[in-house]
Amino acid sequence: MKLIFACLAAFSCVCNMAVFSAPVFDTDIIRSDAGDIKLTFLGHGTLFIEFAGNVIHIDPWTKLADYKTLPKADLVLITHEHGDHLDATAVADLRKDSTIILCSEACLKVLPKEKALKNGESMEAFGIKIQALPAYNIIHKRDNGEPFHPKGSGNGYLLTIGNKRILIGGDTENIDELKVLKDIDVAFLPMNLPYTMTPEMVTGLALTMKPKILYPYHFGDTDTGKLIELLKNESAIEVRIRKMN
Ligand code: ZN
Ligand code: ZN
Repeated sequence: MKLIFACLAAFSCVCNMAVFSAPVFDTDIIRSDAGDIKLTFLGHGTLFIEFAGNVIHIDPWTKLADYKTLPKADLVLITHEHGDHLDATAVADLRKDSTIILCSEACLKVLPKEKALKNGESMEAFGIKIQALPAYNIIHKRDNGEPFHPKGSGNGYLLTIGNKRILIGGDTENIDELKVLKDIDVAFLPMNLPYTMTPEMVTGLALTMKPKILYPYHFGDTDTGKLIELLKNESAIEVRIRKMN
């Protein structure tokens, strides 16, 4: 009898964990002429996109989610080799036989069999156009003078899905290559110091690029209220704050 009670107690404990500990992530839907694009925000620089039955994971990181419980990836995009962006365990958890993994060249040390895109290169998968864009620091540098993100090393990604253009900035500052982008529907721009941008720098870039929807991401402790204040008179840019610290 004691054994039965012990088993029941253990079972109910497991059930409670399953019911109460599963994290619920925020989602948004972006409507395109080819169907809905669903964004799921996992935190920091990490999200996944679902479109027409395909799942695109961006910079998956096991610190933020248990990838064994998330939809397997058809496509994984990795912006650069830093630990908060390149996580081989997350990639392994998401992988199925047909998964395409695109990354920057420096990531090949950890993922030697995958495909690296250089800045400016592009490809197409599942009808989605993927362009690798530059992502680098202009002013924020390490003590030894090296930029945290040297020019030419990391990628941002511009995705064209149906009639929508979605920019995943990567770890970057307000560089000229991003300022000239046009017709951006959704932009994820990083906003933490010392690695990426201040709210003022994000504002400067947003005022030039004019994305219809701006998600600050990778923002750590930065006050997102500052960005909202700076852009409060820009009715053409909708600033959306999600749990992307
Ligand atoms: Zn980085
Ligand atoms: Zn980062």
